[in-house]
Order: sequence, then C-alpha cells, then structure tokens
Amino acid sequence: MWVVLTGGTGGAKLIQGLSWEFDPAQLTIICNTADDFFLHGLSISPDIDTVMYNLAGLSDDARGWGVRGDTFAALRQLEKYGCEAWFQLGDQDLATHITRTKLLREGRKLSEVTDWLCAALQVTAKILPMTDDRVETRVETARGEISFQDYFVKQRWQPEVKRVSYAGIESCRPAARVIDSIQRATGVIICPSNPVTSIGPILAVPGIREALQATPAPVIGVSPIIGKAAISGPAHELMKAMGSEASAAAVAECYADLLDNFVIDHEDAESKKRIERSGIRVTTSAIRMATVVDKRRLAREVVALIQE
Ligand code: GDP
Repeated sequence: MWVVLTGGTGGAKLIQGLSWEFDPAQLTIICNTADDFFLHGLSISPDIDTVMYNLAGLSDDARGWGVRGDTFAALRQLEKYGCEAWFQLGDQDLATHITRTKLLREGRKLSEVTDWLCAALQVTAKILPMTDDRVETRVETARGEISFQDYFVKQRWQPEVKRVSYAGIESCRPAARVIDSIQRATGVIICPSNPVTSIGPILAVPGIREALQATPAPVIGVSPIIGKAAISGPAHELMKAMGSEASAAAVAECYADLLDNFVIDHEDAESKKRIERSGIRVTTSAIRMATVVDKRRLAREVVALIQE
C-alpha cells in the first residue's frame, strides 16, 4: 500500500498517473483539508473533491478543478439573489457539497462522508482527510488576515502575504486510519503540491510528521517548483512570505527529515549537490505534467524509486 500526501491541482495530476499505471486500490491518499470552507451554507472540501473527481474520471483537466462539462445554472441564479459568485460552483459539483453538508449535519465525520462519496463515484483508492477536525489556513496580508479561499480565488493571490498560519492545528487529531496507513505503507509519496498551503498543514497535524519520520517505507517527494517559480499558483510567493527562498532545493529542505529521494526538474540539476548534502538522494526528470503521457511517466518513475 502506498500513502500519498496531496493538495489539489499538482497532486491530482500525479495521482491520475498513478491510478492509470497501477491499481488505484493500493493508494491511500491523505488530503489537505485546511482549504475547506463554508459558502452558501455548504461545506466545501476543494482538495478532497479535486482528487476524488480525478480518480472518478470526472475531472475537468483543462481547468484543473470541478467536473468536466459541468453547467453553472445554479450559480447564475445565486448571483441574481445577490449571493457571492466568486467561487465557481458547477451544478454537479454543488450536488457533492449538498450531500457532504447533509451527511455532516447528520453527525458523520468528514472521513466517513468522503468514504460515502467515493463509494458512490466508484473510486477504489482510499481518500482520507488529514483530520476530521476543523483547521483553517489563514493568510496575513498588509490589509489584515483573510481566509485562504479569499486570498487564492476571490483576490486571485494578488495581495502581498506576510505570513500563513493554520488555525486549529494544535488541537486537531489525525483522522482515523491516517497514522495506521503511514505505519503500514510500503512507500510514501509527497506530491508536487504547495509546500505552504497543501503539504504544510498535513505535516503540522499532530502525529503525522512523527509517523512519517518513523515509517520504514521509502519517502519520495516531487518538486512543485521549477527554477524560482511554481508551475501554477502562488507557492513561490508563499514560500518567500514564510522566510524561505522559492526553489526546488528549498522545498526539499521543508521535508528534509522525511525524504529518501526527491525528484526535481532537469532544469534544476545544479541544485542536486545542495539537496544531497541534507542526506536526500536526488533524481532529475521532466516534472511538468502537461499531458496524459507526462503523468503516467512521472508516476512510473516515482514508483520505481519506491521499489528501488
Ligand atoms: P492546490 O490545493 O490547488 O493548491 O493544490 P496543490 O498544492 O496540489 O497544487 C499546487 C501546486 O502544484 C503548485 O505549487 C504547482 O507548482 C504544482 N503543480 C501544478 N502542476 C504541476 C505539474 O505539472 N508538475 C509539478 N511538478 N507540479 C505541478
């Protein structure tokens, strides 16, 4: 069983590749939930949904979020009622949030709800929220503190960020099966996800980082950064806000106590020696996943490193 740590966009691409190349039933995916939020009275878990839609074959790969071919009639109607329309919720996507909210209100945990949704969509990989408790990424800007979705989607990551924090992290507990899966894993993959807002919160859940340090399984990471910039989104800006440089080597340093092997782009080959000084083996590859072929190839390469 392979354990995969992920956020949404970048991680989901590699997970697609893994699910096409190998039996998805052997994947246990620990998903960031610190981006989760409430809108229109609904409980939305963007990273879980992105991964779930990808594994169900429903994802809109061109946009990187939502359901392929979805319509937006409900959103247009919400707009007419004066409701907020900055977060694009498609009609089919809304059905996911309505079902999740209903089940949570009935007293089920997020992990149970995720199982339910995955079963309905015939997703055989196991998707686990990092925690069933409420954790919220908060972004401190010059104009005050805002939620991650406000920063990322509403304000299109324009505000200058001073700091990022995870409200509720100290008192949250890992969801059931998270620690156990890490202990029993035969390989761990840290996806090319945002180190500050996707992998950072997962590793900050009490007990998860310690379990990863202790696991005998090889831990393989893939860089989300090429050169000085993220392949998409604000990871480089957020790394700088957290006092780090933006580079593949700096991402490796975030996980230095965990990694056995880190995959960086050929373009960053000159960072190899620096990363190896932290005791991490480095593999150079083409890490941009623009096509199905790229996703499959990178997935095979990562699994080959686990099996080495
Ligand atoms: P989010 O919740 O949507 O932010 O999801 P992630 O954290 O999983 O994805 C964002 C990260 O994925 C960014 O830092 C991107 O640089 C990275 N990313 C996106 N596409 C690719 C890709 O094709 N290859 C790699 N290596 N990273 C990617």
